[in-house]
Amino acid sequence: MENIVVGAGLSGAVIANSIAEKLNEKVLVIDKRDFVGGNINDYVDEQTHIHVHRFGPHIFHTNSDRVWEYLSKFTDWHDFSFEPKVVIKGKKVTLPFNLNTIKECFEPELAQKYTKKLVDTYGMETKIPILELKNTDDEDLKFIADFVYKYVFEGYTVKQWGLKPEEIDKSITARVPVFISYDNRYFQDKYQAIPKEGYSSMVKNILNHKNIEVRLNTEFKKAELDSDTRLFYTGPIDEYFDYKYGQLPYRSVTFGIETKDVEFYQPAAMVNYPCDNDFTRITEHKHFLGEKSEKTVISKEYSHQFELGKNERFYPISNNESAALYQKYSDEAKKLKNVYFYGRLGAYKYYNMDQAVLAALELFDSINT
Ligand code: UDP
Repeated sequence: MENIVVGAGLSGAVIANSIAEKLNEKVLVIDKRDFVGGNINDYVDEQTHIHVHRFGPHIFHTNSDRVWEYLSKFTDWHDFSFEPKVVIKGKKVTLPFNLNTIKECFEPELAQKYTKKLVDTYGMETKIPILELKNTDDEDLKFIADFVYKYVFEGYTVKQWGLKPEEIDKSITARVPVFISYDNRYFQDKYQAIPKEGYSSMVKNILNHKNIEVRLNTEFKKAELDSDTRLFYTGPIDEYFDYKYGQLPYRSVTFGIETKDVEFYQPAAMVNYPCDNDFTRITEHKHFLGEKSEKTVISKEYSHQFELGKNERFYPISNNESAALYQKYSDEAKKLKNVYFYGRLGAYKYYNMDQAVLAALELFDSINT
């Protein structure tokens, strides 16, 4: 049987490698872009030699031993503790909003009062989504919740999603909960690191197998498929079905990449701007791998509605309507034999990288058992 993987992103690479290695079968991987890695692609900037995350900051983090051990076969790692900042009233302070951020934002007496209230109410090392924190009758907690809502979440979410925090799926703002802790890390996972030679290099290594052929700049054409081909499709599921039920909605992002004539532009890899500017955040790429250079490369992120043919898909928009539409496509997909949909676009899920890898490994397990 012939195997075709559509999409040379992380999900596509993992499934292709599983087939090539474990089944010892040939796999053709095609991608319409001229690079591998999908939206985790990075490249080395010619002038500064800094690895630039082409589609925004990617920080690998996972609690899964399986995923960590799997990827570690293809890359060495650079330990990276992600400690971003958020600009509140012109000052760069700790994000996620935690007990250090309180110290940074309030006079000592007030900071102490709010810290005590939060710790007494929730306990240390707890994580409270902002929308849950807002749901309180206590005056002090309400003050803190309104402050965080206004200065961290509201403006950012309106820019990022075109909607207010309470209008998007709760799980999205819950990705960055208020953290009753002095731990400044964005993630608390067991493993957190950046591939030492970059993400593109890691993906190339996953695809580097005698049974795998990669063809870039190649569009997928359903009509050219043989009936006995097994197809692993990581492209948009609605596109596969020619949008017969309509388009699944996405948010898109564009990037303003600039080289700055300073060694460091900002104190952290990522600084978020909820209240100021029309971009959401600035990434300074040299921080990820601790790269040294006289100049630096930054990128500003601008969010837009996804428009077919105009920009790229980044974030599935999770709501009842899109879930119902996805369900229709998913039902169609189930009727097909030997066609599997996965990855952020195929499964229409806001996957983190480790979730995408695990889903691909599990898909392989499921077809192979
Ligand atoms: N968010 C926010 N302010 C911030 C950071 C995050 O309002 O400073 C909200 C926003 O709605 C965002 C969501 O939390 O879309 C998830 O943020 P995350 O950093 O996980 O987004 P990603 O890195 O996946 O783009």
